[in-house]
Amino acid sequence: MFSNKDLERYSRQIILKKVGVLGQKKILNAKVLVVGCGGLGTPVIDLLCRAGIGEIGMVDHDKVSISNLHRQVMFNSDDIGKYKVDILKKKINKINKKIIVNKYRVKAEDKNLGKILKQYDVIVDGTDNFKAKFLLNKFSLKYKKKLIIGAISKFEGHIFTFDFSLKKSPCLKCFYQGEPSDGVLDCETDGILGSTAFISGSLQANEVLKIILNVGKNLNSHILIIDLLNLIFRKVLFRKRKGCICENI
Ligand SMILES: [Zn+2]
Repeated sequence: MFSNKDLERYSRQIILKKVGVLGQKKILNAKVLVVGCGGLGTPVIDLLCRAGIGEIGMVDHDKVSISNLHRQVMFNSDDIGKYKVDILKKKINKINKKIIVNKYRVKAEDKNLGKILKQYDVIVDGTDNFKAKFLLNKFSLKYKKKLIIGAISKFEGHIFTFDFSLKKSPCLKCFYQGEPSDGVLDCETDGILGSTAFISGSLQANEVLKIILNVGKNLNSHILIIDLLNLIFRKVLFRKRKGCICENI
């Protein structure tokens, strides 16, 4: 049950009709995995731990560098050279010490990702390359998870939400039929504005909370294309593709 302090901590969201005490319980019981703790992953983790997600897993093998600081909102200058997951665990617990935090200081790979991912309800992609995104797609399909993909570059963000418990759900490979090279939506070579990362990550966190609360409409079967330079948001429908890896699942 909630303590009085918990009720006060979450009062501004509990007061929402679509959340309430029941919704807050769902949030406290949820297990979310964030893979990649950079420009997308850090706003996701920040918002989710404040909302009260009961258990947060984080996969990242990188250390904080000075070039991360313009967009990766949970890090500061003292963190440079330290492992991101180590810093994040401390910061999450400073915000909300009741949250169970599991850190995986590994690169997301074929050999380790399935084992980690299957323990969580909702999977969030904060990676910066398509190889990792396709791996997340593959294992989320296999274990019928909910997966929220984010891809950002320059002033543009792409967001996908998949619910693989639904047979009709398309997957990431239905949209990207070939293998987009890692040069596509790559912030290292193309550059990225901090606000683009922050807004895209915040939208991913928003999708997570709606899934957990079972309210509103998720992006299922759509891609949201965000053009922040011209402030154009487009939601584009796409369908399950014949012959795709998701066809027989
Ligand atoms: Zn597919």
